[in-house]
Amino acid sequence: MTFKDLGIIKPILKAIQEEGYTNPTPIQEQSIPILLDRKDLLGCAQTGTGKTAAFTIPILQHLFNSKNDYKGKRKIRSLIVTPTRELAIQISENVTSYGKYTDIKNVVIFGGVKQRAQTDALRRGADILVATPGRLLDLISQGYISLRDVKYFVLDEADQMLDMGFIHDIKKIIAKLPAKRQSLFFSATMPSAIIDLSGKILGRPEKVAIKPKQATAEKVEQGIYFVSKPNKTNLLTHLLEGNPDSSVLVFSRTKHGADKIVRKLNKAKIQSAAIHGNKSQGARQRALGDFKKGKLNVLIATDIAARGIDVEELSLVINYDLPNIPETYVHRIGRTGRAKASGVALSFCNAEEKVYLKDIQKLINQEIPVISEHPFIDDGIEDAPIPKTTNNQRKKVQRRSDTKPKNGSKKTGDQKNRKPFSKRRRY
Ligand code: AMP
Repeated sequence: MTFKDLGIIKPILKAIQEEGYTNPTPIQEQSIPILLDRKDLLGCAQTGTGKTAAFTIPILQHLFNSKNDYKGKRKIRSLIVTPTRELAIQISENVTSYGKYTDIKNVVIFGGVKQRAQTDALRRGADILVATPGRLLDLISQGYISLRDVKYFVLDEADQMLDMGFIHDIKKIIAKLPAKRQSLFFSATMPSAIIDLSGKILGRPEKVAIKPKQATAEKVEQGIYFVSKPNKTNLLTHLLEGNPDSSVLVFSRTKHGADKIVRKLNKAKIQSAAIHGNKSQGARQRALGDFKKGKLNVLIATDIAARGIDVEELSLVINYDLPNIPETYVHRIGRTGRAKASGVALSFCNAEEKVYLKDIQKLINQEIPVISEHPFIDDGIEDAPIPKTTNNQRKKVQRRSDTKPKNGSKKTGDQKNRKPFSKRRRY
């Protein structure tokens, strides 16, 4: 199967060829015909599967084919809503690349930065708007954006939208969309709350599911290190010293933890930077930019900040802390081994985290090989009993640690409308 077989038009074919895509990925092969047929789509897929191209290519094609529909200033005919700034920027960059031989314009808006550059861009006109929910509602209420002409609507990473407390924003956005439209809904997981939400957005959708299991089992080499908490930084330093030229993404469960790792690595003369919700947008983009360009080899990230990180040649992912929600592990290791490349994901596990390891192995239906050849091996951990905690307790810890705004910190546009944790519904 080729992109040409899928009926993609020449200007887009040329652009994706230049991107180096020879064949469609499974999600593209399944979704593109449905979307070109103008049907609604419910897609269960995570980033790393080629999901962005699966939805942006058909939208570009529809817009290209109907380009004479508008006269005068461009109208927003497609809206793509995604939870994080990084993801929004990433999608916008992809739309620009795939659409470079069309005259279709996109604009990206997100919170946490001044709005002027964004409103100037909107004034110049756009066919596609990529947005995070808070800033989108903000600019709608100020009169800079109208959704009246939207014909193609995409809600991306729906499960993360719920986790971040965006559900009310999403409902407000849906209420402003024209009833006659094509809607696309993507989520990495499909709990009942997500199915409910999709029912409010989609007509009678076609369904496409790309199981995360494929991403982990087939493409990423995985390993687990049993190591005590105090020795984790020593082990990390040891591994980074052994891979001095690789791009390494290190996951920390908390923002505070991420900063601490950076400080400790600095002491060991290993240059790194952290990205998380407490960093300014400028600092996050700088660190991410340096990492993508290869100027910075080690990036420490929390889960939410890392969504949307798309780095070619990302050879190694290290889970400094094991995530307490097993799906998060799949998201994390999906950062390496993107599309066709293969990658390595290594995880540190201390005694308390063994319970998370058990859940992860159950989800991916794989036993992750234990690496025992390292100087900080702690035999006691492998044999230690698994602590007893309930799933709900674990989820509670996860959400508190990564999404709660810092006390007293200034809220960004996207954070303003969120409910405090205690008032949010848990799913
Ligand atoms: P996504 O799931 O959209 O985040 O895409 C993951 C990565 O796969 C990105 O780096 C894309 O550039 C790349 N990609 C998407 N489609 C293809 C394809 N058909 N062939 C090769 N790489 C692709």
